[in-house]
Amino acid sequence: MENWLSKRARLSPQRCAVRTKHENLTFAELQQQVLQQAGRIKQLQPTGRIAILTDNTLPGYLTILALQQLGLAPVLLNQRLSVDELSQQLTDAAVTLCLAADQLVRPLPVKVVSFSQLAQLVPLSVTPPVEFVPAAVASIMFTSGTSGHAKGVLQTYSNHFYSAIGSVLNLGLTAADSWLCCVPLFHISGLSIMLRGLIYGMTVVLVDHFDAPLINHLLCTQPITTISVVPYMLQKLLQTLPTDQHYQAAFRCMLLGGGPIDRATLNACQQRQIPVIQSYGMTETASQIVALDFANAARKLGSAGQPLFPVQVKIAADQHILVKTPTLAAGYLNQPAAFNRQLHDGWFDTDDIGYLDDEGFLFVQGRSGDMINSGGENIFPGEIEAVYQQHPAVKQIVVAGHADAIWGSVPLAYLQLKTPVSAAELRDYGRNHLAHYKVPHAFYLVTDFPRTGNGKLKRRALTPDSGTLLK
Ligand code: ATP
Ligand code: MG
Repeated sequence: MENWLSKRARLSPQRCAVRTKHENLTFAELQQQVLQQAGRIKQLQPTGRIAILTDNTLPGYLTILALQQLGLAPVLLNQRLSVDELSQQLTDAAVTLCLAADQLVRPLPVKVVSFSQLAQLVPLSVTPPVEFVPAAVASIMFTSGTSGHAKGVLQTYSNHFYSAIGSVLNLGLTAADSWLCCVPLFHISGLSIMLRGLIYGMTVVLVDHFDAPLINHLLCTQPITTISVVPYMLQKLLQTLPTDQHYQAAFRCMLLGGGPIDRATLNACQQRQIPVIQSYGMTETASQIVALDFANAARKLGSAGQPLFPVQVKIAADQHILVKTPTLAAGYLNQPAAFNRQLHDGWFDTDDIGYLDDEGFLFVQGRSGDMINSGGENIFPGEIEAVYQQHPAVKQIVVAGHADAIWGSVPLAYLQLKTPVSAAELRDYGRNHLAHYKVPHAFYLVTDFPRTGNGKLKRRALTPDSGTLLK
């Protein structure tokens, strides 16, 4: 297929490609600046893989696209990881050079060049590739590491293209569309917005970090049509949106993904007329592969939606969600066997548990590794959490399994309180709302919940030692 950047710059050179707080670039300007950046990188005479350590700023945006124009696949690093974790990923990906935003420069086991050092170099001339090879790797990024070690995922141009098309066939597109990107560019949620921008000819409004009042202000005052959020962001936006303020009429989609969401938040969004579109996907599928549509969003509240065109989803006998999709990555970096173990006749085992209702809508119940098998009964932590989240004294609660001599495994609860409450009261509350075997055997007060570099909950890291027993 034709090089997306060249094609887009020719098709709509004057349209706004990317807007930040201080910058505004048309597609023609974007192409020019990307090729300049590529020319500077060429000065470094790179051999081997190149990693990028950036936040959501224009130099990072340009650098990712520049590597692709040099025929290279950027290795996208998570700025929140420790030096040890980063070093491991750099070694895993055989990286020889890391291009980093100035404030993110740190001692790493490879050559590090900051964006401002890069900016001093005189660009060499670069002839962009005429075509992007569909099967070529376009980006390498790591999974969140929620279930253990993060895996490097090889995402191809074809993966990203199908992903962009599947999304637009569901959400639609107008000439006025603009997508606010405050999710990280090093994560598939952010990178996919960038690439959709090129494919659709759509403006990306790039915001350098998530600040709920600022994002609410932007959505209330600017004609932004779409934003991608993870559950935590949606909750914060809702909490900080003043009751007398509304998003602009142009705003049509709050695309929610990345993890489970509670009903109370979805109901509150409905009341505030915030159009939430739930979605489900993973790094291995180059973003969402299942999503709700506008017609069914209210009717199917709590569902992740239907498979996007032309994705297929089915549920295995063990309730695992299996997917067949042209967006499925080429594999895991250095771990072909691990990837192939999850692949059977073209169906990828997501390791998530869920069901399809009689109309084919997917409900995600959780990760298989988080499921608690207690005396032969399967328990999903999410179901217990949703019930307790309604208790007036509970601020936040997380449920995880714990080995038990009699039952095999039992649910334990880890929580933070708004107001004091006893374990006996919480137990009684659970018995009134849940089957008895689902009621947590003990409640532990915690000050913090363990999270991955992407802010995802590491449920399996919780043990009774994580908190103090509530009496
Ligand atoms: P790792 O694979 O390293 O354990 P991860 O699975 O968290 O990390 P990602 O690819 O960022 O890495 O996240 C994808 C996962 O997020 C899905 O497999 C699923 O478990 C969860 N997820 C995504 N969307 C939803 C959703 N709508 N509801 C529930 N869970 C979701
Ligand atoms: Mg995963």
